[in-house]
Amino acid sequence: MRTATGLNALRFDYEALLYQELAKQPQVRAFHEQSEREHYFSLHKRHLLGTAVKITADLFPDIYRLYRDCLSRIGEHIEGDLYVHQDTQYNAHVYAHEQRCDILLTSALVREFNSSELAFVIGHELGHVLFEHNQIPAGFLLFDERAEQISPQLAKSLLQWSRAAEITADRIGFLACGDLSSAANAFFKTACGFHPGSDQQVLYALHAQFAEIERLTQDMQRRQMSGYASTHPLIPIRFKSLELISLDLLAFRNQRKNIKERDLHMINRQVQAVLDKTEPVVLQQNAPAAGENLEKQEDFAALLLLSLLLVASAQGAPSRSNIKYIQETAQRLQTPFQLDAVLQECKHNPALFREQVLEEMRLRSVSQDAILQVLHTCVLMCQPCSAAESQMMRSLCQSLRGGEHLLKAVLNQ
Ligand SMILES: [Zn+2]
Repeated sequence: MRTATGLNALRFDYEALLYQELAKQPQVRAFHEQSEREHYFSLHKRHLLGTAVKITADLFPDIYRLYRDCLSRIGEHIEGDLYVHQDTQYNAHVYAHEQRCDILLTSALVREFNSSELAFVIGHELGHVLFEHNQIPAGFLLFDERAEQISPQLAKSLLQWSRAAEITADRIGFLACGDLSSAANAFFKTACGFHPGSDQQVLYALHAQFAEIERLTQDMQRRQMSGYASTHPLIPIRFKSLELISLDLLAFRNQRKNIKERDLHMINRQVQAVLDKTEPVVLQQNAPAAGENLEKQEDFAALLLLSLLLVASAQGAPSRSNIKYIQETAQRLQTPFQLDAVLQECKHNPALFREQVLEEMRLRSVSQDAILQVLHTCVLMCQPCSAAESQMMRSLCQSLRGGEHLLKAVLNQ
């Protein structure tokens, strides 16, 4: 069974994909070439030394130890200092150049967050450093005076990536602090400035507000109202995205147990669905008509389950372990797709089933990204793919009009 090792595997895959795409954009590359990045890093450091206080072992031993603990959990190779400056807001910022960084916390944050909540905040910032998020100058391109020069498509990708980057960084924050409640408290305090006294109430409030955002966004989507343009996803969305992976992160943190790659993949798809459901209209290319979003999700679920059944029946009736995998997938997708009935058909006459599914796939119009997700999930089911299964995936890819490179990408990894 394939497992995810190392912190790299915890990166939200959608974020990594957007990152790779953005890194190729001429405006992003121009930013790297034009500015002397190292020079800016030194300038920031000089500014920090002049306006903030560097945390040292002598000055603030507890915070210093906490910071070193975070570093040892996340990346001892990261070199950097922690600074605090006087400010009544709860805020953290990171200046980074490659794997070097300086993290700046406000005094209010240090005073009023407990050590686990602080570990979450510091871990989050280290997460940005670990994955070199500063290589994509999103804020600069989106909000600088030159913002008008970028295309709406690039602006959209930058916003989407920025939101996804927060989700990746939150996962590393969780590794640093080790429990969902501390992360939730940090979110809650950042939003409202204080804590109601009960962790349970905090979790309840974040859940309730997430449900409300979901409802409101769907209402806005229906009425085609445009949304906001902040790079940080709303706090309850970050919380929900973190909650989905928290149990796996906890196991990973406590026993350094590796997370099964297919579990991670499934969680990432769920987080993706959370983002889709709560994305403001301004980010959507064509605002969907009423119910279209839901329909799209159901379409994808049906596409994925049919594809899995198709590949599972490449050599005849699907094996018990593959059926179990498909059933688990259906459960996680929470779809009205009638899996049992379709499975019966598939078992009854696999050859006819394969022929019918491939025929049906030809009628579908599916994005290359969706095809990639489907193929990837098929590979996770087979582990490793037999020749017949690989051949079936090839036929599937052809029927969906997917590029040859997609198949290569999943089979050769
Ligand atoms: Zn962040």
